[in-house]
Amino acid sequence: MARQKQLLTIIGILSIGSAICAQSRPNILFIFTDDHCEQALSAYDPTRMSTPNMDRIANEGMKFKRCYVTNSICGPSRAVIQTGLYSHLNGFFRNGNRFNGDQRTFPKMLQQAGYQTAVVGKWHLSSTPVGYDHYDVLVGQGPYYNPPMITRGFDGEPVTLPNTGYTTDVITDKTLRWLKTSRDPNKPFMLMYQHKAPHRDWKPGPKYLNWLDDVTIPEPATLFDDYSGRTQSAALQAMEIKTHMNARDLKLEPRGNLNQEQWTHWNAAYEKKNKAYLARQKSMTEKEIIQWKYQRYVKDYLRCVKSVDDGIGRVLDYLDETGLAENTVVIYSSDQGWYLGEHGWFDKRWMYEESLKTPLLVRWPGVIKGGSVRDEIVSNLDFAQTFLSLANVKVPEDMQGRSLEQLFRGINPDNWRQVFYYHYYENPGGHNVARHYGVTDGRYKLIRFYQLENEDLDDWELFDLEKDPEELNSVYGHPEYEKIQRRKMNQLIRLRDRFQVPETDPVFERRIRYR
Ligand code: CA
Repeated sequence: MARQKQLLTIIGILSIGSAICAQSRPNILFIFTDDHCEQALSAYDPTRMSTPNMDRIANEGMKFKRCYVTNSICGPSRAVIQTGLYSHLNGFFRNGNRFNGDQRTFPKMLQQAGYQTAVVGKWHLSSTPVGYDHYDVLVGQGPYYNPPMITRGFDGEPVTLPNTGYTTDVITDKTLRWLKTSRDPNKPFMLMYQHKAPHRDWKPGPKYLNWLDDVTIPEPATLFDDYSGRTQSAALQAMEIKTHMNARDLKLEPRGNLNQEQWTHWNAAYEKKNKAYLARQKSMTEKEIIQWKYQRYVKDYLRCVKSVDDGIGRVLDYLDETGLAENTVVIYSSDQGWYLGEHGWFDKRWMYEESLKTPLLVRWPGVIKGGSVRDEIVSNLDFAQTFLSLANVKVPEDMQGRSLEQLFRGINPDNWRQVFYYHYYENPGGHNVARHYGVTDGRYKLIRFYQLENEDLDDWELFDLEKDPEELNSVYGHPEYEKIQRRKMNQLIRLRDRFQVPETDPVFERRIRYR
C-alpha cells in the first residue's frame, strides 16, 4: 500500500513536471509556401504588392535578409527541412524522388519529446508523412481548386477525400479547424501550415480574379537579358517568359477542375481580358508581347500570394484571440525563391540570387524584438535544428545546419557561417537547368556547371555581387579576381569535404572534378 502511494506520488510529480515543461516549451507554427519570392513580399520589397499579414510577422518579429536554400527546388527543399541534411545525405535529389520516411526527421523527434505534430496542405514528398499525429495533405502538387487530400483513415491507413473550394482557402480552413478542434491543450504543438500557392500555374482565387487589372507592375531591369556575360547554361535553359510559358500558364486556355460556379466567375474575368489581348496581338511587336505575358503572369502570381496572405491573417488572428500567440513561434518561409521576370525567367533552380534566397520571417513574442533584421547567411538546412532547439530537444551532432535560436534571441553567435554550399541535380529535367554546385559568401559567388542533357560540362562562373548584383557578367578567369577565385575554390573544396559531398555525382555516377 505504502509502495503504491509512493508510486502515485512519483507519477504525480512526473506529470506536474511534464505539464510545466509543456507550458514552457513554445508552440511552433511553420507557415510554408511554394515558390514565393521576396520580390512579392512587401516586408522585403514593396514595389509590386502589399502583404500586410506576412509583414505583421516581420514587424512583430525578425526578418532574415539572406536565407539560402541548399537545392532550389520543391521536393528537395522539403526533404532538407525534414532532416537537416543536404540532398546527398537525405536521398531526395530532385522532384519525382520518394522521401524515405524511415530516416531521422525533426517531426518524429518532436513527437517523441511530447509535442503534438501536424501537417496540413502541400507535402510533395511522395511518401506518407511520418512523425505526425495528424496529416491532411495534397496529392502531389495538388490543383488550385477542389483538391483531393490524403489523411489518416479510421483504420490508420491513408485515405484520399474530396474537397470543394479554392485550395489556399481549403488549407487555411483545415489548419484553423485542427487548431480549434484537435489541438491537445496539454501538449505544445508543431503545426506545418503549407500552401500550394503561388506555384505554377498561378490560378487566382475567386476573390482576386480582377484584382490589379488596372495597374501596371514594374518590369525587372533584366527582363530582356541576352545571357551574353555568362557561360552557355543560362542561354540554354527553358524557362523564358518569352518562349516557354504556355497558353494554360497565360490563362488563354484555362484548364482545370473548376466546378460550374467557379468556372462562371473565372470565365467572366478572363474572357474579357483575353479578348482585348487577342484583338491587339497581331499588331503587337515581339517586345510588346513579352511585356503583355509578363504582366499577365506576374499579376496572376501576385493574386495567388494575396489569398495566402489573407489566410495567414486569419490564422494569426486566431492565435491572438485565443492567447496562443504569446507562446507560439511563428515562422514564415517558402521552399525556395523564384524569378518574377528577372533574366526573362519564371521558375527557380539556379544558384543565382532570386532562386537561391527564400523569405524567412520569425515572430516570437517576448523573445524576438519587433522589427529586427539579420544579415547572417542562414538556410533551410538550419530549420530542423532550430525547431529541435526551440523544443529543448538535443540536436544530433550529424545534422548539417545550425540552430537559429541565438539569432532569434538577439545574440551574435560565435563563428557563424561565412560561406555557403549549394548543389542542384535535376538535369535532364524540367526547364533544362544544368547540374551545378557552388559557394557564396554573399559578396562573391563561384559556380560550376557540370552536366547538361547528359553531356559533361566544365563551365565556371564567378560573380562580384557588389559590382554586379544582377549577376550579368561572370568575372571568372579575370586576372584582377585571381586571388578571390583561388580563395573561393579552396572554400568550395573545404565545404564539399565538410558536408561529405561525394566526388562522384550520387545520381548519375559521373565523376565531379574539383577543377
Ligand atoms: Ca517550390
